[in-house]
Amino acid sequence: MIQAKGYAAQNPESDPAPWSFERREVGPHDVQIEILYCGVCHSDLHQIRNEWFPGIFPMVPGHEIVGRIVRSGSHAKKFKDGELAGVGCLVDSCRTCDNCKGGLEQYCLNGSVGTYNGKGKDGLPTYGGYSNNIVVHEDFALHISEKLSLPAVAPLLCAGITTYSPLRYWKVGKGHQLAVVGLGGLGHMGVKFGVAFGAEVTVLSTSASKEADAKALGAHKFVVTRDAAQLAAVKGSFDFILDTVSAKHDLGLYLSLLKTNGVHICVGAPPEPHQVPAFALMGGRKSVAGSGIGGLPETQEMLDFCAEHQIVSEIELINIKDISPSYERMLKGDVRYRFVIALATL
Ligand code: NAP
Ligand code: ZN
Ligand code: ZN
Repeated sequence: MIQAKGYAAQNPESDPAPWSFERREVGPHDVQIEILYCGVCHSDLHQIRNEWFPGIFPMVPGHEIVGRIVRSGSHAKKFKDGELAGVGCLVDSCRTCDNCKGGLEQYCLNGSVGTYNGKGKDGLPTYGGYSNNIVVHEDFALHISEKLSLPAVAPLLCAGITTYSPLRYWKVGKGHQLAVVGLGGLGHMGVKFGVAFGAEVTVLSTSASKEADAKALGAHKFVVTRDAAQLAAVKGSFDFILDTVSAKHDLGLYLSLLKTNGVHICVGAPPEPHQVPAFALMGGRKSVAGSGIGGLPETQEMLDFCAEHQIVSEIELINIKDISPSYERMLKGDVRYRFVIALATL
């Protein structure tokens, strides 16, 4: 076994704290990555607090992982030692179902394996990126460009692909009015991709203080959703709404902002089920849809797109000791716009 150290939550009542554990030996098709940076996703917080489902503890969160290859198994040919590599939300899937064959491993019909809070095919728990190393099948490791700032690339592995994938699926681009709800980790990447794809982007935010940042990210308009007059001014005006909100919110209110045939895309994952008023859908043939992370081919496509267009996340680099105050700030919507852990501080 390979010795690893990281930060784990021991139970749903405690935040991650130092913990030593073991990873599997590097198998023939595996690579071992020395982790340099790991983004802090709101999903980390949902999961260590058991907000979605009972988790597997101790839990080492983190699925926005970048680092360098230190070892490859005898049959692993994808990387050379010393090369950059990334790992996102998935470390395995069945590889045989229609979705896996179609590059939609995130929708594996037999259940994909999460980077943490999951169980591998060996039946052992998976541990994520708040740690110094990871062993993963080479198919689930991604190539990372040397051209971009490495800590700012980490959030692309979840926040990036989770917003890129639906915008590509619904072909959002020139001529479209796109609203992004919630300017946090996912939201700010949604703005960057929406702008890069040619859409007219409006940020719908509860935080008036984020307007200048939204504009600097490329957003054309900014609406404070707590201001009824500002909301009324954008009623019926969007083709698509990309909803990244992490807490309970009123979908009916946002549906009224869609044009006829508009689509409200849920990527935020609040613990409580949404209530969708039928009349809000019927009056204008509107849809509520959802999208989950992205498959391996599309994640690589997104990373290559970002390298070509110089797109990275806006980050605050943190010492791993400061994970708890960072969670507190994330809960208050006070992230500008993704915390990234420097694993050198472990
Ligand atoms: P985040 O950085 O905390 O951003 C969420 C933003 O939502 C906040 O910054 C805030 O923006 C807004 N917000 C928070 N509470 C709100 C409320 N009560 N009403 C309205 N707006 C509120 O979180 P994140 O990492 O981007 O993740 C967002 C959500 O996506 C989480 O639920 C996460 O689990 C989920 N997620 C889903 C996928 C997927 O595959 N679909 C992947 C990753 C994450 P403003 O200050 O601008 O209002
Ligand atoms: Zn995530
Ligand atoms: Zn599958």
